Amino acid sequence: MISPPNLSRLRAFVRDLADLLDQTNDEARILEIGGDLLRDLVVHDDWLPPAFAQPAADRYSQHLLHCDSLERFSVVSFVWGPGQATPVHDHTVWGLVGVLRGAEISQSYARTDASLVPHGRARRLEVGDIEAVSPTVGDIHKVTNAYDDRPSVSIHVYGADIGAVRRSTYDDAGAAKAFVSGYSNALVPNLWGVSARPSDDA
Ligand code: FE
Repeated sequence: MISPPNLSRLRAFVRDLADLLDQTNDEARILEIGGDLLRDLVVHDDWLPPAFAQPAADRYSQHLLHCDSLERFSVVSFVWGPGQATPVHDHTVWGLVGVLRGAEISQSYARTDASLVPHGRARRLEVGDIEAVSPTVGDIHKVTNAYDDRPSVSIHVYGADIGAVRRSTYDDAGAAKAFVSGYSNALVPNLWGVSARPSDDA
């Protein structure tokens, strides 16, 4: 028998992140401590409901898992089918990426006078690896599933309701095109749908 998803891990993550944002608005601190919290989440693979790990045939999926009631942050599962990739894009807010399954290639880009150019070497992110993005630490990248024969899944957290943020994709010439990503899903997981909780998870 397959165990039900252990959603208490995600519930604890959103609670700890809300606590962190209550304590500080210092981005470096949020990225450091939030990154540790995200790593703790993605090194366990017993909590993501299967519907939120489902690849789509035509393009990568972005499933909202939770949005803070004050829209201070959102948590999203990204699912790349075999060989799928994002366009080059920005975020405009802080973000953290943690790989849950498979592996991803992230290539950063930097702006020059005329266009965008790859910045540094592409980074391969394996399960448990964390990457930060923001206008301060580097905000433009392209992410590709490292595998062409299986899906990869990563969990992202952003300092806004990212599906509603006006941001940009970039073409090969570096020209920006405005986009609002929205989300792939209409329903979110019920993080509070338990009748009994362990005493350490009140
Ligand atoms: Fe991104």
